[in-house]
Amino acid sequence: MCSVCMRVPCHPRCPNAPEPVPIYRCGKCGEGIFEGDKYYDSQKGYICEECLDDMSSGELLELVGESLASA
Ligand SMILES: [Zn+2]
Ligand SMILES: [Zn+2]
Repeated sequence: MCSVCMRVPCHPRCPNAPEPVPIYRCGKCGEGIFEGDKYYDSQKGYICEECLDDMSSGELLELVGESLASA
């Protein structure tokens, strides 16, 4: 039994708990995408929600294969 959290296996918040294994990896920042996370499955790879938040509307449209029209 773990001496920190007194559980087997460790509580996820226990410092002795193993690192969660990412299901996918973000193609932009390289961070892992974990179960329950939101992500975009683009043609160029998986993009995590954090990177999507950082993208401009133009970049987002480009990601889905569209582009802004200019008037
Ligand atoms: Zn523990
Ligand atoms: Zn990312």
